[in-house]
Amino acid sequence: MIEFINVEKTYPNNVKALQNINLKINKGEFVAVIGLSGAGKSTLIRCINRMHDISDGQLIVDGVEVKKLRGNEIRKFRRRIGMIFQSFNLVTRTTVIKNVLVSFVPQLSFFRKVTGLFSKEHKIKALTALDQVGILDKAYVRVDQLSGGQQQRVALARTLAQNPDIILADEPIASLDPVTSKQVMDDFKRINQEMDISVIMNIHHVEIALEYADRIIGVREGQVVFDGKSADVTDEV
Ligand code: ADP
Ligand code: ADP
Repeated sequence: MIEFINVEKTYPNNVKALQNINLKINKGEFVAVIGLSGAGKSTLIRCINRMHDISDGQLIVDGVEVKKLRGNEIRKFRRRIGMIFQSFNLVTRTTVIKNVLVSFVPQLSFFRKVTGLFSKEHKIKALTALDQVGILDKAYVRVDQLSGGQQQRVALARTLAQNPDIILADEPIASLDPVTSKQVMDDFKRINQEMDISVIMNIHHVEIALEYADRIIGVREGQVVFDGKSADVTDEV
Protein backbone atom coordinates (compact mmCIF):
# COMPACT_ATOMS: atom_id res chain seq x y z
CA MET A 1 0.00 0.00 0.00
CA ILE A 2 3.00 2.34 0.46
CA GLU A 3 5.67 2.16 -2.21
CA PHE A 4 8.88 4.14 -2.51
CA ILE A 5 10.45 3.93 -5.96
CA ASN A 6 13.94 5.43 -6.25
CA VAL A 7 12.96 8.16 -3.83
CA GLU A 8 15.45 10.98 -3.18
CA LYS A 9 15.11 13.88 -0.81
CA THR A 10 17.54 16.78 -0.85
CA TYR A 11 16.85 19.72 1.46
CA PRO A 12 17.35 23.28 0.20
CA ASN A 13 20.69 23.39 2.06
CA ASN A 14 21.84 20.51 -0.20
CA VAL A 15 21.71 17.89 2.57
CA LYS A 16 20.84 14.61 0.87
CA ALA A 17 18.54 13.18 3.51
CA LEU A 18 17.28 10.25 1.39
CA GLN A 19 18.93 8.51 -1.54
CA ASN A 20 17.62 5.76 -3.76
CA ILE A 21 14.94 4.51 -1.40
CA ASN A 22 12.99 1.50 -2.65
CA LEU A 23 10.47 0.03 -0.25
CA LYS A 24 7.07 -1.62 -0.19
CA ILE A 25 5.06 -1.53 2.99
CA ASN A 26 1.88 -3.61 3.08
CA LYS A 27 -1.38 -2.89 4.81
CA GLY A 28 -1.38 -3.88 8.45
CA GLU A 29 2.39 -4.00 8.90
CA PHE A 30 4.09 -2.68 12.02
CA VAL A 31 7.38 -1.25 10.78
CA ALA A 32 10.13 0.22 12.92
CA VAL A 33 12.61 2.53 11.22
CA ILE A 34 15.88 2.51 13.11
CA GLY A 35 19.17 4.33 12.68
CA LEU A 36 21.37 6.97 14.23
CA SER A 37 20.35 10.57 14.67
CA GLY A 38 20.55 12.34 11.31
CA ALA A 39 20.23 9.08 9.33
CA GLY A 40 17.07 10.23 7.57
CA LYS A 41 14.36 8.39 9.56
CA SER A 42 12.24 11.41 10.20
CA THR A 43 12.50 12.58 6.61
CA LEU A 44 11.48 9.12 5.37
CA ILE A 45 8.35 9.10 7.51
CA ARG A 46 7.41 12.70 6.80
CA CYS A 47 7.49 12.19 3.05
CA ILE A 48 4.67 9.63 3.36
CA ASN A 49 2.04 12.20 4.36
CA ARG A 50 3.76 14.93 2.38
CA MET A 51 4.92 16.95 5.33
CA HIS A 52 8.02 16.97 3.15
CA ASP A 53 8.03 16.80 -0.65
CA ILE A 54 10.34 14.29 -2.23
CA SER A 55 12.93 15.62 -4.68
CA ASP A 56 12.95 12.69 -7.09
CA GLY A 57 11.42 9.27 -7.66
CA GLN A 58 7.90 8.17 -6.84
CA LEU A 59 6.04 7.67 -3.61
CA ILE A 60 2.75 5.85 -4.02
CA VAL A 61 0.17 5.40 -1.25
CA ASP A 62 -2.85 3.23 -2.07
CA GLY A 63 -2.26 3.65 -5.77
CA VAL A 64 -2.00 7.43 -5.56
CA GLU A 65 1.20 9.26 -6.41
CA VAL A 66 1.60 11.53 -3.40
CA LYS A 67 3.40 14.41 -5.14
CA LYS A 68 0.55 14.77 -7.65
CA LEU A 69 -2.04 15.56 -4.97
CA ARG A 70 -3.26 19.14 -4.93
CA GLY A 71 -4.92 21.41 -2.36
CA ASN A 72 -8.04 19.73 -1.05
CA GLU A 73 -6.80 16.31 -2.13
CA ILE A 74 -3.79 16.69 0.18
CA ARG A 75 -6.06 17.54 3.09
CA LYS A 76 -8.28 14.50 2.45
CA PHE A 77 -5.25 12.27 2.00
CA ARG A 78 -3.69 13.42 5.28
CA ARG A 79 -6.86 12.62 7.21
CA ARG A 80 -6.27 8.94 6.46
CA ILE A 81 -2.75 9.11 7.86
CA GLY A 82 -2.34 9.77 11.56
CA MET A 83 0.82 11.44 12.76
CA ILE A 84 2.29 11.11 16.24
CA PHE A 85 5.26 13.17 17.39
CA GLN A 86 7.78 12.97 20.19
CA SER A 87 6.37 16.18 21.66
CA PHE A 88 2.69 15.33 21.85
CA ASN A 89 1.52 18.53 20.14
CA LEU A 90 -1.50 18.94 22.40
CA VAL A 91 -3.19 22.04 23.72
CA THR A 92 -2.20 21.46 27.32
CA ARG A 93 -4.38 24.10 28.98
CA THR A 94 -7.63 22.50 27.93
CA THR A 95 -9.36 19.16 28.46
CA VAL A 96 -8.48 15.84 26.93
CA ILE A 97 -11.76 15.53 25.04
CA LYS A 98 -11.38 18.99 23.52
CA ASN A 99 -7.99 17.97 22.18
CA VAL A 100 -9.56 14.96 20.50
CA LEU A 101 -12.57 16.92 19.21
CA VAL A 102 -10.20 19.37 17.53
CA SER A 103 -9.53 16.70 14.92
CA PHE A 104 -13.14 17.09 13.71
CA VAL A 105 -12.94 20.84 13.16
CA PRO A 106 -12.22 20.61 9.42
CA GLN A 107 -15.43 18.56 9.02
CA LEU A 108 -17.68 20.97 10.89
CA SER A 109 -20.34 23.07 9.30
CA PHE A 110 -19.75 26.81 9.31
CA PHE A 111 -22.32 27.19 12.08
CA ARG A 112 -20.60 24.69 14.31
CA LYS A 113 -17.19 26.20 13.58
CA VAL A 114 -18.41 29.60 14.65
CA THR A 115 -20.26 28.39 17.72
CA GLY A 116 -17.70 25.78 18.71
CA LEU A 117 -20.45 23.20 19.14
CA PHE A 118 -19.58 19.61 18.38
CA SER A 119 -22.24 17.09 17.47
CA LYS A 120 -23.18 14.18 19.71
CA GLU A 121 -21.76 11.86 17.06
CA HIS A 122 -18.37 13.60 17.27
CA LYS A 123 -18.40 13.39 21.05
CA ILE A 124 -19.17 9.67 20.90
CA LYS A 125 -16.34 9.15 18.43
CA ALA A 126 -13.94 11.09 20.65
CA LEU A 127 -14.93 9.16 23.77
CA THR A 128 -14.64 5.87 21.90
CA ALA A 129 -11.11 6.76 20.81
CA LEU A 130 -10.18 7.64 24.40
CA ASP A 131 -11.59 4.30 25.53
CA GLN A 132 -9.47 2.52 22.89
CA VAL A 133 -6.31 3.84 24.51
CA GLY A 134 -7.54 3.32 28.08
CA ILE A 135 -7.97 6.93 29.19
CA LEU A 136 -11.71 7.40 28.99
CA ASP A 137 -11.71 8.32 32.68
CA LYS A 138 -9.49 11.33 31.84
CA ALA A 139 -11.82 12.80 29.21
CA TYR A 140 -12.67 15.91 31.22
CA VAL A 141 -9.27 16.38 32.86
CA ARG A 142 -6.94 19.11 31.65
CA VAL A 143 -4.05 17.76 29.58
CA ASP A 144 -1.44 19.46 31.78
CA GLN A 145 -2.64 17.29 34.69
CA LEU A 146 -1.60 14.11 32.87
CA SER A 147 1.66 12.19 32.77
CA GLY A 148 3.72 12.06 29.57
CA GLY A 149 2.45 8.59 28.74
CA GLN A 150 -1.15 9.65 29.19
CA GLN A 151 -0.53 12.68 27.00
CA GLN A 152 0.87 10.52 24.24
CA ARG A 153 -2.29 8.41 24.51
CA VAL A 154 -4.39 11.56 24.05
CA ALA A 155 -2.42 12.22 20.87
CA LEU A 156 -3.05 8.63 19.80
CA ALA A 157 -6.78 8.97 20.52
CA ARG A 158 -6.91 12.20 18.50
CA THR A 159 -5.43 10.30 15.59
CA LEU A 160 -7.71 7.27 16.04
CA ALA A 161 -10.79 9.48 15.99
CA GLN A 162 -10.00 10.06 12.30
CA ASN A 163 -10.21 6.33 11.45
CA PRO A 164 -6.78 6.35 9.84
CA ASP A 165 -5.45 3.52 7.65
CA ILE A 166 -1.89 4.37 8.60
CA ILE A 167 -0.26 5.88 11.67
CA LEU A 168 3.16 7.48 11.32
CA ALA A 169 4.98 7.92 14.60
CA ASP A 170 8.14 9.99 14.83
CA GLU A 171 10.03 8.92 17.97
CA PRO A 172 6.79 8.58 19.98
CA ILE A 173 8.46 7.29 23.14
CA ALA A 174 11.69 9.29 23.06
CA SER A 175 10.61 11.55 25.92
CA LEU A 176 8.98 8.84 28.05
CA ASP A 177 10.42 6.71 30.84
CA PRO A 178 10.91 2.96 30.18
CA VAL A 179 7.72 1.78 31.92
CA THR A 180 5.51 4.37 30.23
CA SER A 181 7.23 3.67 26.91
CA LYS A 182 6.14 0.05 27.08
CA GLN A 183 2.55 1.03 27.85
CA VAL A 184 2.45 3.34 24.85
CA MET A 185 4.07 0.67 22.67
CA ASP A 186 1.42 -1.80 23.88
CA ASP A 187 -1.23 0.66 22.68
CA PHE A 188 0.40 0.91 19.26
CA LYS A 189 0.61 -2.88 19.02
CA ARG A 190 -3.02 -3.34 19.98
CA ILE A 191 -4.17 -0.68 17.54
CA ASN A 192 -2.10 -2.32 14.81
CA GLN A 193 -3.43 -5.82 15.48
CA GLU A 194 -7.03 -5.19 16.44
CA MET A 195 -7.83 -2.28 14.15
CA ASP A 196 -5.63 -3.34 11.25
CA ILE A 197 -3.96 0.06 11.08
CA SER A 198 -0.45 0.08 9.62
CA VAL A 199 2.12 1.58 11.95
CA ILE A 200 5.38 3.07 10.71
CA MET A 201 7.48 4.28 13.58
CA ASN A 202 10.89 5.89 14.00
CA ILE A 203 12.52 4.66 17.11
CA HIS A 204 16.04 4.64 18.41
CA HIS A 205 15.50 1.95 21.05
CA VAL A 206 16.48 -1.08 19.01
CA GLU A 207 15.38 -3.62 21.63
CA ILE A 208 11.92 -2.11 21.82
CA ALA A 209 11.73 -2.01 18.02
CA LEU A 210 12.56 -5.71 17.89
CA GLU A 211 10.04 -6.53 20.58
CA TYR A 212 7.09 -4.73 19.02
CA ALA A 213 7.57 -4.31 15.27
CA ASP A 214 7.09 -7.05 12.67
CA ARG A 215 9.63 -5.52 10.36
CA ILE A 216 12.77 -3.48 10.88
CA ILE A 217 14.10 -1.00 8.35
CA GLY A 218 17.59 0.25 9.11
CA VAL A 219 18.58 3.62 7.67
CA ARG A 220 22.07 5.04 7.46
CA GLU A 221 23.18 8.21 5.72
CA GLY A 222 19.93 8.42 3.83
CA GLN A 223 19.92 4.87 2.56
CA VAL A 224 18.18 1.66 3.57
CA VAL A 225 20.91 -0.63 4.85
CA PHE A 226 18.73 -3.30 6.41
CA ASP A 227 15.20 -4.53 5.82
CA GLY A 228 13.92 -7.67 7.44
CA LYS A 229 11.56 -9.36 9.84
CA SER A 230 12.23 -8.64 13.49
CA ALA A 231 12.19 -12.38 14.14
CA ASP A 232 15.09 -12.86 11.72
CA VAL A 233 17.33 -10.26 13.31
CA THR A 234 20.13 -12.01 15.12
CA ASP A 235 22.95 -10.78 17.32
CA GLU A 236 25.17 -10.42 14.27
CA VAL A 237 23.10 -7.61 12.77
P1 ADP B 1 16.74 11.34 11.73
O1 ADP B 1 15.25 11.37 11.84
O2 ADP B 1 17.26 9.96 11.39
O3 ADP B 1 17.43 11.94 12.90
P2 ADP B 1 16.38 13.43 9.76
O4 ADP B 1 15.50 12.87 8.70
O5 ADP B 1 15.78 14.33 10.78
O6 ADP B 1 17.15 12.21 10.46
O7 ADP B 1 17.58 14.20 9.09
C1 ADP B 1 18.34 13.68 8.00
C2 ADP B 1 19.31 14.74 7.56
O8 ADP B 1 18.60 15.83 6.98
C3 ADP B 1 20.13 15.36 8.68
O9 ADP B 1 21.41 15.66 8.17
C4 ADP B 1 19.36 16.62 9.03
O10 ADP B 1 20.19 17.61 9.60
C5 ADP B 1 18.83 17.03 7.69
N1 ADP B 1 17.56 17.77 7.77
C6 ADP B 1 16.41 17.34 8.37
N2 ADP B 1 15.43 18.23 8.25
C7 ADP B 1 15.96 19.25 7.53
C8 ADP B 1 15.44 20.50 7.07
N3 ADP B 1 14.17 20.84 7.28
N4 ADP B 1 16.26 21.29 6.37
C9 ADP B 1 17.52 20.93 6.14
N5 ADP B 1 18.08 19.78 6.54
C10 ADP B 1 17.32 18.95 7.23
P1 ADP C 1 11.90 16.09 15.77
O1 ADP C 1 12.57 15.04 16.59
O2 ADP C 1 10.64 16.61 16.40
O3 ADP C 1 11.73 15.69 14.33
P2 ADP C 1 14.26 17.55 15.05
O4 ADP C 1 15.15 18.18 16.06
O5 ADP C 1 14.73 16.33 14.32
O6 ADP C 1 12.86 17.32 15.78
O7 ADP C 1 13.89 18.62 13.95
C1 ADP C 1 13.12 19.74 14.25
C2 ADP C 1 12.80 20.46 12.95
O8 ADP C 1 13.99 21.01 12.40
C3 ADP C 1 12.22 19.53 11.90
O9 ADP C 1 11.18 20.19 11.24
C4 ADP C 1 13.37 19.25 10.97
O10 ADP C 1 12.90 19.04 9.64
C5 ADP C 1 14.17 20.53 11.07
N1 ADP C 1 15.62 20.30 10.88
C6 ADP C 1 16.34 19.26 11.31
N2 ADP C 1 17.61 19.36 10.90
C7 ADP C 1 17.69 20.51 10.20
C8 ADP C 1 18.75 21.20 9.51
N3 ADP C 1 19.99 20.70 9.44
N4 ADP C 1 18.45 22.35 8.92
C9 ADP C 1 17.23 22.85 8.97
N5 ADP C 1 16.19 22.26 9.58
C10 ADP C 1 16.42 21.11 10.18
